[in-house]
Amino acid sequence: MRKAPLTVCVVGGGFTGAAAAIACLSRLDRPFRLVVVEPSASLGRGVAYGAHHPLHLLNVRTRDLSVRAGQPGDFLNWAFRQLDQGENHAGLHDGLAHTFLPRQLFGEYVRERFFEAVEGRGDVELKIVNAVATSCVKEGDRFTLHFDRAEPAQADVVLLATAYGLQASTPTGALAPFDALPPERINGAKTMALIGSGLTMVDVLQSTRRDGFQGKVTVISKHGQLPRPHASKGVVPRESGLSRSKRLSSLTTAVAIACAAAEAHRTPWQAVINSVRSSLQDIWQGLPVEEQARFLRHVRPLWDAHRHRLPLEVHGRLQSEFNEGRAVLLRGQVTKAEHDGEGFRLTVRRRGSKETEALAADLAFDCTGHRPDLASPLIESLVSQGAASVDAHRLGLAVQPDGQASGRGGAPTPGLFALGPLCQGSLWEITGVPEIVHQCDAAAQSISALARAGMREVELTSSAS
Ligand SMILES: Cc1cc2nc3c(=O)[nH]c(=O)nc-3n(C[C@H](O)[C@H](O)[C@H](O)COP(=O)(O)OP(=O)(O)OC[C@H]3O[C@@H](n4cnc5c(N)ncnc54)[C@H](O)[C@@H]3O)c2cc1C
Repeated sequence: MRKAPLTVCVVGGGFTGAAAAIACLSRLDRPFRLVVVEPSASLGRGVAYGAHHPLHLLNVRTRDLSVRAGQPGDFLNWAFRQLDQGENHAGLHDGLAHTFLPRQLFGEYVRERFFEAVEGRGDVELKIVNAVATSCVKEGDRFTLHFDRAEPAQADVVLLATAYGLQASTPTGALAPFDALPPERINGAKTMALIGSGLTMVDVLQSTRRDGFQGKVTVISKHGQLPRPHASKGVVPRESGLSRSKRLSSLTTAVAIACAAAEAHRTPWQAVINSVRSSLQDIWQGLPVEEQARFLRHVRPLWDAHRHRLPLEVHGRLQSEFNEGRAVLLRGQVTKAEHDGEGFRLTVRRRGSKETEALAADLAFDCTGHRPDLASPLIESLVSQGAASVDAHRLGLAVQPDGQASGRGGAPTPGLFALGPLCQGSLWEITGVPEIVHQCDAAAQSISALARAGMREVELTSSAS
């Protein structure tokens, strides 16, 4: 008796889910069923590349983005075809390569590539489930998924691409970065507090300014690190020859020396950071857990500020905000944010102080970023069965490099994968596009091998009987 075709279920249809589906459609060489579970209408775009703020720019150059593994210039070529007026202008292509395009355009590209990949596989049956997955139960070598507003589904392979889950509120009680406010509230506000000082803070600052906010901004950040700029032109990664030390202090010193040496030879420091990026997951996995924890406590803010950079023009606008006194940076921690009439009342502890103080603001946004929601019913169901486990830093799920989930006791759970930001604690720097695409491709290769092995088993069983 022949087995039914393999069913692959991708839970979460943001960028990671789309990249995972595209990788499976490209790597699996036998017919299969593809189920994609996404409760929102923004399949392929997710939080980052949706329509929240159409003019927000990508923080990576066009030439460095692609949803197709092994095709690094794919987004550049796609964008060129959208913008070229049939003149096949080489100058436009070169210019685009170094440009930071709107994020929404990237979302459009990902969606298009997803549906193209599906159309290209007449032997693959696609089902989109517009619902929230509420649990996933492992039964033998299959999984049963339950949804909030759809019939349960069975799958041989489950790819979790839920990133930070469906978090409706922010941990501090302030507004979420993409909360939509009526224009009169933004226009009428005289003060705004932004909690956190990374790229999300810059997004919120830019969009509220564009929407008419003219008041004063207080950026509150524990470490006070603001994102650094990209180099003026795309840089070629400069090999830093970083030794694989197991000590964080040796690594940070080596990176600082490599940056200084590069600058001394007129190479921007950004080239060194770019080169380190490709080996970050190896370096991270080579560090003892205590050293990883030390990184998260002490080095992460400085690293993030250098690694997650801003296009030069955006960085220039941010600098002007501070130089011209429209924004101030307060080093400290917000312990509470409460609604106070029409505005907010924040409780802040300045860095180095034991006392707290109150700060009133007409608007307050929490821009500190999310962590995967490990208490979500879906994740909890897998952890409680022992099919998945939480990583040592409680940043997400513990996984192998290809995303295969590590179950209770550390043994991999065949057929269960966690991809993208959901595995940040195991594979540091798994939030950027190139890293996610690489991981999804590795997962698809593993699934393809699994499918072939399964098929052989069926063939052997049927020929023996
Ligand atoms: C604002 C922003 C800008 C960024 N810009 C860049 C950039 O310029 N360059 C770059 O390289 N990287 C960038 N990144 C980082 C990276 O690309 C993102 O982290 C990436 O988009 C993550 O995609 P995701 O699909 O894992 O997450 P998400 O986009 O959050 O998608 C997760 C999806 O899962 C769904 N979901 C959650 N729980 C369930 C459930 N239980 N059942 C069903 N569905 C569920 C959600 O509805 C959501 O659609 C950016 C990130 C952000 C947030």
